[in-house]
Amino acid sequence: MRIPVNEPVITAAAKTYVNEALETGWISSSGPFIGKFEEEFAKFLGVKHAMTASSGTTALHLALLALGIKEGDDVIVPAFTMIASVDAILYTGASPLFVDAEPETFNIDVTKIEAQITQRTKAIMPVHLYGHSADMDPILALAKKHKIAVVEDAAEAHGALYKRRKCGAMGTINCFSFYGNKIVTTGEGGMVVTDDDALAKRVRTLKDLAHAPGRRFWHEEVGYNYRMTNLQAACGLGQLEHVHDFLETKEWMAQAYAKGLGGIRGLRLPITKAYAENVHWMYAVVVEDGCTLSRDELCKRLAEHGIDSRPFFFSAPSMPFLSHFAQGESFPVAEDLSRRGFYLPSGLALTQDQLDAVCRAVHSILDDAA
Ligand SMILES: *Cc1c(COP(=O)(O)O)cnc(C)c1O
Repeated sequence: MRIPVNEPVITAAAKTYVNEALETGWISSSGPFIGKFEEEFAKFLGVKHAMTASSGTTALHLALLALGIKEGDDVIVPAFTMIASVDAILYTGASPLFVDAEPETFNIDVTKIEAQITQRTKAIMPVHLYGHSADMDPILALAKKHKIAVVEDAAEAHGALYKRRKCGAMGTINCFSFYGNKIVTTGEGGMVVTDDDALAKRVRTLKDLAHAPGRRFWHEEVGYNYRMTNLQAACGLGQLEHVHDFLETKEWMAQAYAKGLGGIRGLRLPITKAYAENVHWMYAVVVEDGCTLSRDELCKRLAEHGIDSRPFFFSAPSMPFLSHFAQGESFPVAEDLSRRGFYLPSGLALTQDQLDAVCRAVHSILDDAA
């Protein structure tokens, strides 16, 4: 039996709510589950406003649009991230300004941000990768000093903490994804959150075709259909009710992998900084020089054992369509991570037996290679 890299758990509550949505006929973006999901998600984070979106990518686009970011502006973003963070910036016409990763947490290197800030810079977008918070205080301080916005991409960090504060509740306006492998899922979906009333209002207008107030079918600017459906929100609400169980499962997974894989030469397991509570969205490991196999060789051998894994992201500026944004700079940490990092099966449905089988396979593959 193959062990998939991600298998979701769909709760009984989610199934009940989705059926209720189907049976009542509220299948589009009107219907009671939208408001309920938004309300419960805002409560979970401790923020004033939560606005559903059709995906994490569209949520990021809406957040940047609400801030008024446009052509001629720059947004600081990690070189090492999921491509949606960068694409959302490009949709607005603004330019991504890349900053290299920090090797231990894989997140944006906060010591390298300020050198990038110019008059054109309008926002910093930290991304909390694989469930570990970026180092937010220096980022928030820089944003305050330069009077620019912070847009957290918390797609991979539902429930993660930074100094007891929730990831996705620290920036000016922040985003989550509910893609099938995310901790809370709606299949496809996203959320924009903020404490700012005016930004929240802008997001609600822009995501729904920018209807002018008080005059039906009249529009004064370009809008978007980035709405979530009531079906998706029903699923999300049922999943969110169990988010604390999911976070416990992730904690169990991280501890069990650490126990099963600890002490293997050249295999660097994820760490958690003193400022963070890591929710281990994916169990991300790095193959170091002392290892007997390369990352690619190890993943290939795991696949032969029926174990699915995924390599890390590529460094965004290494991709030809983005290379001109690199401005001649290099991003050695992001490039190194993209060659050495991968993640093991980490889904919420992962069993103890599966996890043990993964650990046994890693040991046997690396022992054989030694
Ligand atoms: C998943 C993800 C997104 C995009 O979310 P979608 O819902 O797939 O559009 C954005 N940023 C990061 C870091 C992600 O992991």
